[in-house]
Amino acid sequence: MSLSEKTLKILKEVDKVGAALTAGEEKEVVCPVCGGRLFVEKAAYNGHLHAECDGCKFAVME
Ligand SMILES: [Zn+2]
Repeated sequence: MSLSEKTLKILKEVDKVGAALTAGEEKEVVCPVCGGRLFVEKAAYNGHLHAECDGCKFAVME
């Protein structure tokens, strides 16, 4: 699996989880790439999503 495929897979999951969150909330889900813990957080101040996996160390800030 290429790096961009992994990124797209995680971003898709982050978007799905993020859509169900309200600003200031966070949720722990299973990382679709490594099976680790993926933390998704919606910032209280601007509603932007932040995600970080403790397995594959993937991190994204929208
Ligand atoms: Zn992961």
